[in-house]
Amino acid sequence: MPCQPTPRVSLRLWKTMKKSELPQKTCPVCKRPFLWRKKWKKDWDNVRYCSEKCRRQRSSHIGDDE
Ligand SMILES: [Zn+2]
Repeated sequence: MPCQPTPRVSLRLWKTMKKSELPQKTCPVCKRPFLWRKKWKKDWDNVRYCSEKCRRQRSSHIGDDE
């Protein structure tokens, strides 16, 4: 048999590496960092909020900036 790393270890390592490679932004509403998601693939540059909830919260406070 060929010498291979155990699947469990390599998968864990892969996931860790993969996660750290993802772009990250901070939501201006809840101030929490959020990671890139697949659904934002085409629109990442325009994504500012971690969720629809935060996006709506923000848009209801337009003009309230600082
Ligand atoms: Zn948020």
